[in-house]
Amino acid sequence: MGKLSGKVAVVTGASKGIGASIAEHLAAEGASVVVNYASSKSGADAVVKRITDKGGKAVAVQADVSKLDDIKRLFAETKSAYGKLDVLVNNAGIFEFLPLEAITPEHFHKQFNLNVLGLILATQEAVKHIDGQGGSIINVSSIVGKMPVASGSVYSATKAAVDAVSAALAIELGPKKIRINSVNPGMVETEGFHSAGFAESDFRKQTEKTTPLGRIAQPEDIAKAVVFFASDDAGWVTGETLVISGGARA
Ligand code: NAP
Repeated sequence: MGKLSGKVAVVTGASKGIGASIAEHLAAEGASVVVNYASSKSGADAVVKRITDKGGKAVAVQADVSKLDDIKRLFAETKSAYGKLDVLVNNAGIFEFLPLEAITPEHFHKQFNLNVLGLILATQEAVKHIDGQGGSIINVSSIVGKMPVASGSVYSATKAAVDAVSAALAIELGPKKIRINSVNPGMVETEGFHSAGFAESDFRKQTEKTTPLGRIAQPEDIAKAVVFFASDDAGWVTGETLVISGGARA
């Protein structure tokens, strides 16, 4: 019996990167998992296949979680696939870096619409589907919420907002037995990290130099903590933000 046997989990943005690893780790502990994606059907199908090949349960569901109608459909499809909902991982997020003079309303709204508004609306919809037994919501925030980086004012602000939302909703949802916590990773090697051009960057080298454990994270470093928050092991933990950064600190 896994720690999450009988549980149903939705992971947003799970076709690659941190979300894919979270989906696989939740499934390995027995959860039935909805692997959400926006455009990478092949990526999401590959995650589902890796899970089902190991005897786990997963389905891929396309939905743009910056859009309310898509969010409603995502949870309706979850209900028809598995009949209930216990765990939501709000992982889908984008990170774009621009210096002050290059910031545009589009740059602002694109990141806030997904990283903050999408996370709130997905949580709102999930809460309607979690029954009286309670549940667990995990927000994938970032260390930059508390330790902002140059050219990252908008992205950092989205994650500071996520931390505030998590803290407020932990109080609000406590009476419904719904716990809400966030994981706040430092730099993680993902597809998004590579396409942002960080792999060979000075930013990466500097991060490694100032990280006590001497490397950047791999997605599974984050996924293992998400399993903890999703499970009954964290049954008395809500409203926490766990920095996962190899010891790098604000
Ligand atoms: P990634 O490799 O770029 O993957 C992003 C995932 O989000 C993909 O599955 C993508 O789906 C999905 N996605 C993007 N827009 C979406 C939308 N509108 N609706 C639904 N899904 C959407 O990203 P990552 O590096 O794993 O980051 C995941 C989360 O961790 C983000 O919230 C990010 O801010 C946070 N984080 C990352 C790092 C890091 O260093 N990598 C550090 C701290 C925090 P498609 O492929 O279908 O587009």
